[in-house]
Amino acid sequence: MAQENVNVVVRIRPSSNETNDETCIQTDPISSTITLTTNEKQFHMDKVFEQNAPQEEIFEYVQPIIAAVKNGIHGTIFAYGQTGSGKTHTMIGNDKNLGIIPRAIEIIFTDLNEESKKRNDNFKFKISCTALQIYCEKTYDLLNGNEKIEIPLRDIFKNAKEIEVKSSNECMEIIKRGLKQRKVAGTSMNETSSRSHAILTLTLKTEYFKENKKHERISRLNMVDLAGSEKHTDNNKTQNREAANINKSLSTLGQVIRAIINPTPKQVIPYRDSKLTTILRDSLGGNSKTTVIVNIHSNSKYAAETSSTLDFAANVKNVKNTAILQEFITSKETFTLKAEVQRLGEENDKL
Ligand code: ADP
Ligand code: MG
Repeated sequence: MAQENVNVVVRIRPSSNETNDETCIQTDPISSTITLTTNEKQFHMDKVFEQNAPQEEIFEYVQPIIAAVKNGIHGTIFAYGQTGSGKTHTMIGNDKNLGIIPRAIEIIFTDLNEESKKRNDNFKFKISCTALQIYCEKTYDLLNGNEKIEIPLRDIFKNAKEIEVKSSNECMEIIKRGLKQRKVAGTSMNETSSRSHAILTLTLKTEYFKENKKHERISRLNMVDLAGSEKHTDNNKTQNREAANINKSLSTLGQVIRAIINPTPKQVIPYRDSKLTTILRDSLGGNSKTTVIVNIHSNSKYAAETSSTLDFAANVKNVKNTAILQEFITSKETFTLKAEVQRLGEENDKL
């Protein structure tokens, strides 16, 4: 179960059939540690999902986010990883293996319909969805039928087309239609790989009456299928530009999440350094809940990309430990305590 407001987890995809090379990953599920055997780097995560982990297990992990959204708190789920590592599989899946998005939508509708039947305080809810795409730091609306029109960032959720949905089926149809519009360009990894970020947002509005007063809540569930994180480019101008933009926005995302996990006084969280974090600003930090699902291959063929993907995850998450350790070593209390221990020791010696 996700316990903290921000969690970083790793999902290892099943070995791809095209390669019969060896695995470069070792895991210890009890300590949620993952070791890259090519360079013996070890990473500690909030959770490691093994190759055979079913979609249900991943969904189970993010359930607290969905529960929070039902209670009026914003939630965001990211799928991060190189092209072909299983981001879209994790988020959307297929008819036999539904991913997070269809499961989340289904459960939200079922639970809220049930709740409105049970409650006697005039509880009502409305769900609407938006689908945005960021390609080369430009934001497009996937639901307006014309992907070429860039939408202004100011009040993005007001400017984007928001469609109210009455059922989970209707919602999924709209999302699938939107996703078909995503900008795709073949890379050497995967012909249909995506070079854009897709942000699907469900906005939930609820109301109920208590002591003759109307109580209203608005919360968002953002489900983000990020652009492929691979570092390589094919020496083609467009692809180089795409890669540079993707790198920049993913590293800003990493910095923003790291700053949220490790708050320091007076810090400025660099939300404005990328379109992605600008759009998601209200949903990242505060009491909102976030899970980053980092998708990796296990094959040694992909070891270099896997290493940099795990570095991203570790950078986002592990800094906390180092910071606490440094603070402990240099804190005034420690010096005072050390001096006191020394003084007592000296006094002891005198006796
Ligand atoms: P990405 O979106 O990161 O580029 P995809 O989700 O499209 O990657 O995955 C690439 C291929 O691998 C797809 O055919 C997908 O069905 C398959 N795949 C990825 N992860 C899994 C998994 N955990 N179980 C089964 N198949 C998977
Ligand atoms: Mg994909």
